[in-house]
Amino acid sequence: MSYQFDNKYPSDFEVKRDILEIGRRMYARNFVAANDGNISAKVSENTIWCTPTGVSKGYMTDDMLVLMDLDGNVLKGDLKPSSEIKMHLRVYKENPEVSAVVHAHPPAATSYAIAGLPLNHAIMTEAVMGIGEIPLAPYAMPGTEEVPNSIAPYVTTHNACLLANHGALTWGRDAMEAWFRMESVEHFALVSMYTNGLIGQANELTCDQVDRLIERRTNSGISTGGRPLCRNCGADGVPACVAGKCSSSCQASGAGHSCGGSSCGTSSCGSSEEDKKDAQMVAQIVQQILAKNGYCK
Ligand SMILES: [Zn+2]
Repeated sequence: MSYQFDNKYPSDFEVKRDILEIGRRMYARNFVAANDGNISAKVSENTIWCTPTGVSKGYMTDDMLVLMDLDGNVLKGDLKPSSEIKMHLRVYKENPEVSAVVHAHPPAATSYAIAGLPLNHAIMTEAVMGIGEIPLAPYAMPGTEEVPNSIAPYVTTHNACLLANHGALTWGRDAMEAWFRMESVEHFALVSMYTNGLIGQANELTCDQVDRLIERRTNSGISTGGRPLCRNCGADGVPACVAGKCSSSCQASGAGHSCGGSSCGTSSCGSSEEDKKDAQMVAQIVQQILAKNGYCK
């Protein structure tokens, strides 16, 4: 049987090979522990291969994978799919352009999810052009419909989201894109932790710089990723881009208490002092744990 449709989808062999490889990388990079995490990818408009529950994703063989339809019916495979597969099915339902989904618990990104902090500040050019803004989906009880409902609002507009007190979810046009986005989420979380938490300063990009980066992202064919918060703040401390006032005149006039001023170049732009303290505390604790486990070598 062939699942190929106008060559739009990869073969069963290709998808299973990619899922096994991503599972090995995910486990080797400490993005999951024990049997955590799950991966799925489409082989037709309505069919996915996905990882089973109760198995370490670092040690999977292709006979362990499960073939499902997007209504959640198992078509092939001896093992049970993860209960978290409902989250994947919802992503496919909300955004037909998506062909693969990856879920993991990478330590830095998960720490932000536990602290209740989205990764939404424009501090790194590659992150603005690539992964974009990473919103935080609200807390959801595992195994319930709350989980797919919590991520649904982001699936057509972004490339990834954090899951409050849980982990991270990414999606893409193929399995490797979804996996690379998970790498980007964790990398950006780690850099954010170093700058905000350890160094204590992250110079945010200006609205104009963010505009130009997003223009480049759009020109490269990516319309998702949202808009991270930029430097220029209004009088109320809300970044101008959020208040819909992101313009060159704002930057030129210096309107607002810190627009264009020195305080706007710090991580205080768009976040409260309390948020900063929480992030610093979490960052220090996590950094100690990561260093102990040799994670940063
Ligand atoms: Zn999980």
